[in-house]
Amino acid sequence: MYLNYPNNPTAAVVGGEFFAKVVAFARRHGIIVCHDAMYSELRFDGYTPPSFLETPGATEVGVEFHSLSKTYSMTGWRIGFCVGNARYLGGLGKIKTNVDSGVFQAVQEAGIAALTGPQDIPEQYRRIYQERRDVVVGGLRALGWEVDVPKAAFFVWAPVPKGLDSRAFASRLLEEVGCVVTPGVGFGPSGEGFYRVALTIDAKRLAEAMQRLKGLKL
Ligand SMILES: *Cc1c(COP(=O)(O)O)cnc(C)c1O
Repeated sequence: MYLNYPNNPTAAVVGGEFFAKVVAFARRHGIIVCHDAMYSELRFDGYTPPSFLETPGATEVGVEFHSLSKTYSMTGWRIGFCVGNARYLGGLGKIKTNVDSGVFQAVQEAGIAALTGPQDIPEQYRRIYQERRDVVVGGLRALGWEVDVPKAAFFVWAPVPKGLDSRAFASRLLEEVGCVVTPGVGFGPSGEGFYRVALTIDAKRLAEAMQRLKGLKL
């Protein structure tokens, strides 16, 4: 079973008690749990996402994946790591050595520098993303649109105003005010009725987008 918290696209987070249920479920059904913990370091307001591996019994049933893509803004550099159950990691290693030939050494060196260097860098990123988040949440609320404040990850996930279809809403934003959002249905049928804003551009440009949204006549 693959899980991903904090989640992309919804920015949903879970508490340790959820992972305790996951461990019990995995034991009962004899399955392996793979937790994709990509956004564990992009957290706000003093919230700390739990690691699946801190759950009692987790290393018996699963592994956790991390990537340097988001924590260190190394997206596309293709470097990450997996920790957890030794037997499952052995299996993953066997597959990996047969499908690729390892990470380019310069990227490995950069990864070492990121992980062993000053950790005020992820802290700076957290501040930057939090500022962007506040611009978007504030802007949407000023329009009277409903939106939850994400505790982690760099997405704002919100219900499409006035119950519009997510694809139609995204097209209208693009054509009428020149803003791009991702229609929720692109992530599967359960995403219908929602849209996602990625906080991957600077706060000034996000503020400009919030201004433009005022021009949309729904
Ligand atoms: C960005 C992201 C990853 C990271 O993928 P890389 O291949 O390491 O860049 C993994 N899972 C989710 C949910 C993501 O959003």
